[in-house]
Amino acid sequence: MREIHGTGIGERVAFGPVVRMADALPEPSERASALDPGAEEARARASLSAVAVELADRGVRAGGAAKDVLDAQAMMAEDPTLITDIVQRLGQGRTAERAVFEAFAAFRDLLAGMGGYLGERAADLDDVSQRVVAHLSGVAAPGVPSPGHPFVLVARDLAPADTALLDLDQVLGLVTIGGGPTSHTAILAREKSIVAIVGAADADGIADGETVIVDAERDLVVQNPTVVQVGEARQRIADRAALAAAPITPGALADGTPVPLLANLGNADDADDAVRLGAEGVGLFRTEFLFLDRAVAPDVEEQQEQYRRLLAAFPGRKVVVRVLDAGADKPLAFLNDAHEENPALGLRGIRALRQAEGVLRGQLEALAAADAETEAELWVMAPMVATVEETRYFTGLARESGIRVAGTMVETPSAALIADRVLAACDFASIGTNDLTQYTMAADRLLGTVADLQSPWHPAVLRLIADVGAAGAAHGKPVGICGEAAADPLLAVVLVGLGATSLSMAPSALADVRASLARYTLDQAKQLATAALGADGAVEAQQAARDGAAAHAGA
Ligand code: PEP
Ligand code: MG
Repeated sequence: MREIHGTGIGERVAFGPVVRMADALPEPSERASALDPGAEEARARASLSAVAVELADRGVRAGGAAKDVLDAQAMMAEDPTLITDIVQRLGQGRTAERAVFEAFAAFRDLLAGMGGYLGERAADLDDVSQRVVAHLSGVAAPGVPSPGHPFVLVARDLAPADTALLDLDQVLGLVTIGGGPTSHTAILAREKSIVAIVGAADADGIADGETVIVDAERDLVVQNPTVVQVGEARQRIADRAALAAAPITPGALADGTPVPLLANLGNADDADDAVRLGAEGVGLFRTEFLFLDRAVAPDVEEQQEQYRRLLAAFPGRKVVVRVLDAGADKPLAFLNDAHEENPALGLRGIRALRQAEGVLRGQLEALAAADAETEAELWVMAPMVATVEETRYFTGLARESGIRVAGTMVETPSAALIADRVLAACDFASIGTNDLTQYTMAADRLLGTVADLQSPWHPAVLRLIADVGAAGAAHGKPVGICGEAAADPLLAVVLVGLGATSLSMAPSALADVRASLARYTLDQAKQLATAALGADGAVEAQQAARDGAAAHAGA
């Protein structure tokens, strides 16, 4: 038995025999081409378009967030700048394989050097390069093996194209040697509810056919587990299956205290799935996801149609829409055009919108118009608010535009520290724990090197959340949570103990959180919260909550 550490995605456990994914193709040789550059160019262009078509086709089959990722990859294969670079290299006598390899590598290095969100897209580019080179060489692209039986896939890093099409009946779990918590592999694994450990550097030593347990909750891969460990894993898998089959009831604590469970969405197309999984409404609709590829701001009519579709899926339910959170890892060309050294600390969210007030007014107008056409209860909130003045600005503009309920995201320590005054100036608060953690801990949420500082379990973050919860209670105003923290079943209980009145998460997490909340009364949730708040660090806080939960289960 050996334990290998990485970052777990989700909470579940899987168990089975390993199948390893073939490593990358060898680097194409530097020998001069025997063909003339024109003939090589024709080969290269044919393979680039074949791969673009194949990726787009995979996107259509996969749907959801995977489609956006695969469409972006298909566009990379036809990027005019890359093609110009390839043609130039062909002019120097390279083979098509070599020219494609070099041009993609150069572009990859450029992206990797930029770091952040763009840096993480470098792996996507490598995958496109491999596919084109494989197509040119007439060999199969490295991809997910199909051994004919269920297996745990161990790969160096998985390309989005592969993750998107994983056969969920065959792939029991996924372990990647590379990749971080915000890589596409992690994002897609989370969306598809695949049990995964990413960044497990020592998984290189796992051989084909070995048995492993993939324990996402404990961030562990157990190589050659003992009989007892296998028994425990099987029990957890059976418990989880029973949970998924349990009837869907509204979110509530054991004493009946209601805790509405809402969905985080980025696209109206995902609304039906969210409803099927028991979402009682939407707690965060990320509107910027609709327009990431736009050079100019979408007009009011187009936006109105998008929002109308979303609201129509939730008649009589609360739908919280966030106005555009552009900037940092989600730049929108029509709002963020200047280079910034530290974009997470720059013109992001409400700051960028104020600079382009027409865009904000247009969005609020479209939302109010969609609201008038539908039966949902529309709430609208502003991202990245740091001051009372920004809160008043947004609330004023929203009301002027006909929005009835206007709120503030609390995702800067500043907004949390003055939550009493922020809440006096708006109708509700929604805590974005992803950014609140990033800014409280001064740890870039996209950077693997500071991942251990990015835990929302840190008592510094929990204390801020408690302050916001107390301010909400004092004002009688709702305080929701819409960051990833709400999707952690035990942390969800702690957050309610700290004063959260609703929780919003990826729909795939709803069942686990619903079951977890039902195990504790409000008093017990408050006890777990007090235990976590009293700890010295994130690991200790999580452990204190686990100990409290175990004591409660044994009582
Ligand atoms: C957050 O910061 O927690 C949040 C919900 O917003 P986003 O992840 O879109 O920045
Ligand atoms: Mg945020």
